[in-house]
Amino acid sequence: MSTISLSLDEIYDLAKKTLLSNGCDEENASILSDTIMRAERDGSHSHGLFRLPAYVAALKSKKVNGKARPVVKKISPSVIKVIGNNAFAPMVLKIGLPELIKLAKETGVAVLAITNSHHMAAMWPETEAVAESGLVSFACTSYMPMVAPAGAKKALFGTNPISFAWPRPGKTPLVYDMATAAMAMGDVMVAARDGHKVPLGTGLNKDGKETTNPKEIIKGSGGVLLPFGGYKGSAIAMMVELLAGALVGDNFSYETAAKDNKDGGPPSGGEFILAISPEKIAGSGWEKHSEEFFTKMKSMDGIRLPGERRHKNRLDKGPRKINKELIEKIKKLS
Ligand code: NDP
Repeated sequence: MSTISLSLDEIYDLAKKTLLSNGCDEENASILSDTIMRAERDGSHSHGLFRLPAYVAALKSKKVNGKARPVVKKISPSVIKVIGNNAFAPMVLKIGLPELIKLAKETGVAVLAITNSHHMAAMWPETEAVAESGLVSFACTSYMPMVAPAGAKKALFGTNPISFAWPRPGKTPLVYDMATAAMAMGDVMVAARDGHKVPLGTGLNKDGKETTNPKEIIKGSGGVLLPFGGYKGSAIAMMVELLAGALVGDNFSYETAAKDNKDGGPPSGGEFILAISPEKIAGSGWEKHSEEFFTKMKSMDGIRLPGERRHKNRLDKGPRKINKELIEKIKKLS
């Protein structure tokens, strides 16, 4: 793969220029470009510049409003709702997270219910931001049907990511962020392109049989992905449908698909975010207690904590190598 080195500022500027010339206003373009730059910085490549062409497609078709101003509604002392008004998720989060943090610090636990927002991004930016303020956080969102519930042969769930973050005062939080599918669809597509097999349990072919051939699983093949961990992962993917759909008052994945204009951009959907104060629940000393746990865990052979790869990448302030074809494709969008 041929690459071009771009500084973090150049990545931000390229994203912002592209978004501004495709219908975003200054505020929306700045916030989304910052999320894209941070994804590249952390080595979260599948959620950096790689997503920009799809974001532009959604702006061009007017599915996403690049000038949107989401609306915050306080529902109760511990529940807020942000109606996205068809904004990209980072804009909604920018408005909703400070409110969520404020409520959770006051009450001990708070929920942010997001509707009418367009995600298709990583979830660590939101859980990590909440944990950096000293709160425990959990977030999830659904997507378009791509994953068959355990026992079924047809897709019902999205790849439905979940993310959890635990605050570590003076350190970067512990964060995990993962799809509930056995493998991300993007990774299956790369395996198909490169002629590699995928592990059994990744997906089913059009006849509902397990296969190691990624070409029989990818979109358009008639095959489907499976959840990770059989019926246990399937239950978690189901939970995401309920929390990010029925609970927040937005779509299930199959409803998202039915309403989407199929422009390839992120569909409209909901997100559920929970923030909990360990200070209020466990009381003082919670940090020392959890640090003891992390120390014990890390003393075991073969262990690294989730999030550590990204946080290590983040320390490198230098340029990032970006796929040359992708940069050329993006430049043509302005
Ligand atoms: P991965 O399987 O790459 O990683 C999942 C988590 O496991 C990460 O927190 C990662 O930490 C951690 N991890 C990986 N390897 C180890 C290890 N050896 N030991 C300990 N922890 C480890 O992620 P996925 O492919 O499942 O998901 C990728 C991204 O895609 C996520 O950000 C997810 O939110 C996003 N996504 C978004 C969707 C949407 O609709 N918005 C849909 C589906 C996925 P680390 O980062 O440090 O490697």
